[in-house]
Amino acid sequence: MKFKLPELRHEKDAYEPHIDAKTMEIHHDKHHNTYVEKLNSALEGQEKFQDKDIQEILKNLDDLPEDIRQAVVNNGGGHYNHTLFWAILSPKEVKPSDDFKKAIEDAFGSMEKFKEQFKDAALKQFGSGWAWLVLENGQLKITSTPNQNSPISQGQVELLGLDVWEHAYYLKYQNRRPDYVDAFWNVVDWSRVEQRWEQAK
Ligand code: MN
Repeated sequence: MKFKLPELRHEKDAYEPHIDAKTMEIHHDKHHNTYVEKLNSALEGQEKFQDKDIQEILKNLDDLPEDIRQAVVNNGGGHYNHTLFWAILSPKEVKPSDDFKKAIEDAFGSMEKFKEQFKDAALKQFGSGWAWLVLENGQLKITSTPNQNSPISQGQVELLGLDVWEHAYYLKYQNRRPDYVDAFWNVVDWSRVEQRWEQAK
């Protein structure tokens, strides 16, 4: 199976002013596309992996031949992480249901405390990487990963992810990663996050 660049759910200017159209264009059409191309090229001729989906591959990294493993971590992770990121974006925040809000409050104290802890994870991720809300053994947790490493490879289920590579925000926010993290909440579709939670539980 050849992996394909997924379509965005909205026009590239749909998340303005929080995420600008130019960033969306370069991020999706160039960066994500490159991950897809390099993933396909890493897996070329690897019969055993042709009909596996990306989740299955990233859950079982040890099955990969050593000489392509890191390329798959980087580019398979890049493909998977970005696919999730696009899927949870919305032109306007879609609020979480009372049920899901309560689960977040139970886990982190309040929605505000959750956002503070998530921001902390996003800012402490040195260099390139991601901040995540994941489900692990039935528990909601905040975590971060370097580069394109994906929580799925550590037995966690990603519910929400924020790309904190500079390519995700530098055009608009330059060095102001904290402002980008704050702006992100305006374009989160919590119904999508919640769907992933329902499936993962
Ligand atoms: Mn990115």
